[in-house]
Amino acid sequence: MRRSPCNVTKERIMLTIRPPWTPEQVEALNRHQKDPRLHPFTCGSGRRTDEHHKDGQGILVATADGWVCPWCDYRQFWAHEEMLTISDTLDSFGAKRV
Ligand SMILES: [Zn+2]
Repeated sequence: MRRSPCNVTKERIMLTIRPPWTPEQVEALNRHQKDPRLHPFTCGSGRRTDEHHKDGQGILVATADGWVCPWCDYRQFWAHEEMLTISDTLDSFGAKRV
């Protein structure tokens, strides 16, 4: 897993992860996509609300080779490292546990 700094926040550096992703990482990323408390990554084609994107949002699906849009050929090749674990750090209201 390669890591690179994405942007610097006040308290910490946000890290990004790039494919290939392990089955565990793919599962964690897709868990993030389905978590109603979190905002999912969506299709960046600019067409994600057209009639071909039948979910109306173009929610991306993680694979070992990166994100794929199930509705078009859009691909994305990075994720926030935090997406792997954030579901486990939130309470039922979506607030971060301290
Ligand atoms: Zn799409």
